[in-house]
Amino acid sequence: MKNKKLLIVGGVAGGASCAARARRISEEAQIIVFERGPYVSFANCGLPYYVGNVITDEDDLLVATEELFRERFNIEVRTRHNVRSIIPEKKAIQVEDLTTGEIYTENYDALVLSPGSAPLRPDLPGIDLPGIFTLWTIPDTREIIAWVKGRGVRRAAVVGGGFIGLEMAENLKKIGVQVTVIEMQNHVMPALDPEMGNYVNRYLKSKEVELCLGSPVSGFKQNSDGTLTTTLQSGDKVVVDMVLLSVGVRPRIALAEAAGLKIGEHGGILVDERMRTSNDRIWAVGDAVEVKDYITGLSTMVPLAGPANRQGRLAADVILGDGQSNPKFRGVQATSVCGVLGMTIASTGMSEKQINRLSGKGITIPYEKIYLHPVHHAGYYPDAKTISMKLLFRKDNGKILGAQAVGMEGVEKRIDVISMAIQKEGTVFDLEEAELCYAPQYGSAKDPVNLAGMIAANFLRGFTEVAHWENLKETSPLILDVRDPDEFSKGHIKNAVNIPLPTIRKRMHELPKDQEIWAHCMVGQRSYYATRILSQNGFNAKNLTGGYLTYLSVKPIKDLP
Ligand code: FAD
Repeated sequence: MKNKKLLIVGGVAGGASCAARARRISEEAQIIVFERGPYVSFANCGLPYYVGNVITDEDDLLVATEELFRERFNIEVRTRHNVRSIIPEKKAIQVEDLTTGEIYTENYDALVLSPGSAPLRPDLPGIDLPGIFTLWTIPDTREIIAWVKGRGVRRAAVVGGGFIGLEMAENLKKIGVQVTVIEMQNHVMPALDPEMGNYVNRYLKSKEVELCLGSPVSGFKQNSDGTLTTTLQSGDKVVVDMVLLSVGVRPRIALAEAAGLKIGEHGGILVDERMRTSNDRIWAVGDAVEVKDYITGLSTMVPLAGPANRQGRLAADVILGDGQSNPKFRGVQATSVCGVLGMTIASTGMSEKQINRLSGKGITIPYEKIYLHPVHHAGYYPDAKTISMKLLFRKDNGKILGAQAVGMEGVEKRIDVISMAIQKEGTVFDLEEAELCYAPQYGSAKDPVNLAGMIAANFLRGFTEVAHWENLKETSPLILDVRDPDEFSKGHIKNAVNIPLPTIRKRMHELPKDQEIWAHCMVGQRSYYATRILSQNGFNAKNLTGGYLTYLSVKPIKDLP
């Protein structure tokens, strides 16, 4: 294939990556990229920061230009060229030059589709009113900025609390706009489990971001003064000067569908491990495709830049490579990070709600979870910040299933390490043993990743038993609070017995031997020591994982004592 003609539809993440890699493999191939927008290879991930004036020069969003592709890579990029259809039997595409209106056909030896996804605009009353925006392209940012400046926007509603929504909340705040985030779930960052999302809820409130949670939007109305009223199904109303919609994405599959390519159960283009579609001369990559979930092996869609880039590169290797290396896409695990007003939220792999959803479909994964709240570097070094973490793992073999973390510093580093462990099919025992870099200003000799592994491994080895707050109602254990009395007096769980850790050996005779004891402290460490003391003295003691901090994060969503 080295001297063949490769056509690529879509010139941003997956498409541009594919084109550049293709040229590195073959100097002889003819490579043409078709992009219907005005720019090739622009930084869509940077768009919120241009709205927030963090990126001040629009040109900085252009990662590469047509000229660069031509001069550096000898690749022809045709911007403002819309690919209207694929004619698979002729190995040709029909293209419209959007500047001249000319329609022409172009033949290919190999065709790569990287058309991306489009932001959802739900069919709601008033959805097309002026002042309701989505953010997807550079022209979108211009329209938003013009509206904010032209209308003197003071209040905005962000509908959808996922990562684009939160990034926009941050950036609108940065330019002086008061923001309300409307999210139909009970917490923002729907990829997280509720108790982890609650940390973000609370943080956003502390930063004066209004939250309207737990009810979807039912419609929009324009008022006589030009403001927009967003109404929720709950009946609540939010009056603002503009609305930013970020309620999800829809894969662009129209071309593929019309060409008869197979579409998967999630509505994405079906591809094999080599990114080949159901037509053997057509490959597809990026937001538009369905790929394998690395952990479950099931089909999934993960619209993120990393997978799109890797898939684009891999498609070029498959199409133009020497056929010896047999590259395969290993699958996705949805590793992601989002920053909002100083807080970092990151996750990788499966969430508990995904595991439960699968269980509802008859696929049972025997799992356990632990929580911890370590500091991001040595506690004695100034400015140590807490990271709240959740680790999910298989009960039968300790394989890591997923992790979530929120905090102010060092969050994504821990999730990246765990992500790599998942990719290597690692277990909690691997996390326990992981050798990670340490100096006081960067971490701890027992890094949060090690601690997560140790807690989970202790459980799997039967060294400690774990209890969960949400199970409190079903059982009637004795709640033992081993914090100091001053901590206890500032807030505690109803009916909890306070025996501070330093006194537990002397006072354990006060505890029952015929009742389960669920011990907790602030984060779970002192209560772990307590459960070790108690279990070695014949008590049936469990450690409430994550301690009082996790209790506080679970409490708003569960009817706990
Ligand atoms: P895209 O990069 O969207 O490229 C598709 C291109 O194809 C488009 O430019 C489109 O115009 C063109 N096209 C479509 N159909 C045709 C046609 N028929 N003819 C010609 N051209 C066509 N991901 C992260 O991992 N981290 C982030 O921080 C992050 N932030 C984001 C912030 C924003 C505001 C947005 C919008 C996305 C963000 N993403 C982020 C997601 C990431 O950008 C996408 O997952 C990635 O760009 C997908 O790559 P792709 O090649 O599939 O599609």
